[in-house]
This record gives sequence, C-alpha cells and structure tokens, in this order.
Amino acid sequence: MQLIYEKSVAGRRAVRLPKRGDDARPKINPKLLRAQPAALPELSELDVVRHYTELSRRNFSVDTHFYPLGSCTMKYNPKACEVACALPGLSDLHPLWPQLRHGGLLTQGALQLLHETERMLSEICGMAEFTLQPLAGAHGELTGCMIMAAYHRDRGNKKTHILIPDSAHGTNPASAAIGGYDVRTVPSDAQGNMHLDALRAAVNSETAGLMMTCPSTLGLFVDHLTEIADIIHGVDGLMYYDGANLNAILGRVKPGQIGFDLCQLNLHKSFSTPHGGGGPGAGPVGVVEKLRPFLPISRVVKRGDGTFVLDYDAPKSIGYIAPFYGNFGVIVRAYAYLLMLGREGLRETSDAAVLNANYIQEKLRPLLKAVAPGRCMHECVFSGEPLKATGVHTLDLAKGLVDRGIHPPTIYFPLNVPEAIMVEPTESESRETLDTFVQTVAELVALAQRDPDALHRAPVTMPVGRLDEVAAAKNMDLVFKPANAK
Ligand SMILES: *Cc1c(COP(=O)(O)O)cnc(C)c1O
Repeated sequence: MQLIYEKSVAGRRAVRLPKRGDDARPKINPKLLRAQPAALPELSELDVVRHYTELSRRNFSVDTHFYPLGSCTMKYNPKACEVACALPGLSDLHPLWPQLRHGGLLTQGALQLLHETERMLSEICGMAEFTLQPLAGAHGELTGCMIMAAYHRDRGNKKTHILIPDSAHGTNPASAAIGGYDVRTVPSDAQGNMHLDALRAAVNSETAGLMMTCPSTLGLFVDHLTEIADIIHGVDGLMYYDGANLNAILGRVKPGQIGFDLCQLNLHKSFSTPHGGGGPGAGPVGVVEKLRPFLPISRVVKRGDGTFVLDYDAPKSIGYIAPFYGNFGVIVRAYAYLLMLGREGLRETSDAAVLNANYIQEKLRPLLKAVAPGRCMHECVFSGEPLKATGVHTLDLAKGLVDRGIHPPTIYFPLNVPEAIMVEPTESESRETLDTFVQTVAELVALAQRDPDALHRAPVTMPVGRLDEVAAAKNMDLVFKPANAK
C-alpha cells in the first residue's frame, strides 16, 4: 500500500475556500512566517477518507475479529461506556479548574465520580481504600512496591527482597526491582502451585513481601493461599495480589479477605477500556487499613457537608506517582461499567469468563495438550507439542489462524510450557464464536498432518507474510524519503 505522501498530486485540494483579501489576514510577525509551504501531501477529501479507512481495515481488533489473546483480556467493551467518557461535562474538564466555587460547581461531579469508583473497587476487593492514580498495571505494581517500602521504613524493618513465584506475570519482578528490592523466585510444582517447602526455605526476616499473580499465568487459581499468607505475615511481610485479571474472580473472591494486603487492578482489562498498542490504561491500587497512610497523593475525600475535595495532607504518603487524578477517561469508563452491570452483573461476568475458557479447554483437549488436568479459570493453556512430529510449530498454527480471520492466542508464554498456546476467550463471546474457533483449530491440526508446508507458508491472505521480527525491532524504517529525494 502506498503512503499518503506517495498519493499526493501537486495542487490537489481537499477544501476550497474563498480567497481572503489582505486586510482580512491575521497580522503575523513576518519573521515567524514560513519561507516555503509545509511539505504536506496534497489530496482530495475522498482520497484521504479512503486512505485511512483502508488502513483501519488492515487492523485486527475486537470490533472485527475474535481476539483470544491470553493474559491481555481483549474483550468487547460496551459502547455506552465510550459515550459516558465523551460527555462534554467530563471530557472538557481541565484538571486545574477549582474544585469548589460558586456553590460547588466546576469539578465537584468529577470528584464525586472518582470517590464513588474508589468506594466500589474497595468493596469489590475487600480493601480499605484505593488510589486511582497509577496509569497502568505495571505502574500499579510499582506503586504497591513503593507502599510496601514505606510501610517497612515506618516500622524500622530492614527488608531487602520480595518473593515472586515462577508462575507470576513478567512485570512483577521488574516492578519489584525498580522498587529497590532484590527478587527471589519461588518454584512451582507440576500443578502450577507454589512449593510450600521452597517458600518456607526462602522466607526470612528480610522478606518485604510476596507478589502473586492469581490466577497464575497458567490460568489456575493458586492453592494454599492462607498458609502462604501466614508464612509471609509471620515475618511482617506483605501479601501483594496482581489482580490484572480480576474478571476471573470478580464478585466471587475478595483478595482482602483471603490474606492479601495490597492489590492492583487493570481497569483497561476487566473494566471496559479498549486497549492495545500501549494504552491508555489505569492500574488502581487497593490497600488494607494499616497501609492507608502510605497511599499516594492526592486523595479524594468526602467532607461532612457532602462536598468533595482533593486531600494532600498525608505526611507518610509515598507522594506523587502521576499528575492530577490518574487516567480520568479510563476511570469514567470503569465507573459507567460498574454502574451498568451492578453487583449481579459483575458476578455473571466472571462466571461467563471462566465457563468460556473451560468450554474451549475441554473442546481442544483431544487436539492439543491441555496443561491443566482439571478446571481452569478465565484462560486455558495448551502445549503444541503433539504437533511437533508433523514439523508444525505453535507459531505456524498461530499464522494459520490469522489467515482464517482469528487473532492468534498468546504463544510461547508462559515460558515454562513448551510450545505454549494461551487462550483467553473472555466473557463477551458467544457460543457460536467459540465453536468457530474450536472448529478452525481442528481444521488446522488436520492440515498439519496432511500438508504441513501449507502452514509453514501462512499467512498468505495478509498484506505482509512472515516478518523478520528482529529486523523489524532493531532496524526500524520510520522516515519517509520521497522517491526524488537527494
Ligand atoms: C497485563 C498484566 C500486567 C501488566 O499490565 P499493564 O497495564 O500492561 O502494565 C500485569 N500483571 C498481569 C497478570 C497482567 O495480565
């Protein structure tokens, strides 16, 4: 496909406006005027519309394709939440507007919305209070590690390391390290559960806490949580819950009630913000009562007269971790989503997410090697090893799915599963879509036996085939050079 610059025709215009006389021109200091017109492409309006519409149709998106990308929760988000976010009263707000003036106008509504979202998330997770400031899941994890450090400093505890199971999400060890801690890995057993003896051996008085992804990256709920929490609390350590995939347990389990002291949520995964390509996101962090003093500033508080203000008076706070109130638009969508679904609806969300994943797991069990012997949570993990004898790898299977209009699942992750394929159907897909996916995988497995090279050639229906991914990342070609450039 040509770049828009290559489609340019000298003199072509998108709009034609009457010429203005010199008197009507704004008076601009001549020193600031361009000597030459900007080198913009020259096209008709129709050329521009077709160009960008054509580009947009080359995307895989939840609005156009099934997108079972494990761990990422690429689910459908109701358009009503987008409408709420775009309301001029919310989207036109400026964060520096006064909070209270003229009888409580201006930002009172926005502050109330933030406060009510914070209260709902606290109830959902069984936490004392949330901060809505963090701008992504990993940013929430870092905030959590900073809160842990502030707690231990305040208590005079000498803590040097954070324990992380080998089944954790990859951002956990990165966040702990940036938070200033050494990372010690705790191995899992064959079922993906933490080795309790290994945990006991690793814990000592310098353990700041444990970060746990639950369900784990194998899509399984972790057993022995209360024993694990007792071991960590025994050395005044803190239990951190990575709740990025809360749609697995929403309305069923409250992390604060099963021994966790802090947790982060990914609003852009579980609570209705379309995401991908790096943002936007929000990773609110909830804490139990004893960690409240360390939450970042500002915090929205409700005063006795019913008005809301931003409170900066928190001497033990870890301070600022984001400008203003966090990613306000993402929080508005989450607020709309929470109110739309209500208590019952939220619970049905996790029921459907888990049911859909188990449906796919059982349908594909005869074709690929399911990692979990029993039930999974919101995602299911397979190994593509049974196909190896045909010379077809997980990557080939993924490319075959692309040709058949399905976004591939996450592949080669988790790392401890050879030829891993990680499927997260999400709660919003219909039975028909799940059946189409299963049928398509079955056809590809049959094709692997019959004509493995057909899969080695895939994808053949896309604008580009297989990329040299290293070159694509290392030798990026981002600068347009016109054909006649010197
Ligand atoms: C997605 C995810 C993260 C990271 O979230 P970002 O918003 O991408 O920073 C962390 N933990 C788990 C379990 C996740 O699935």
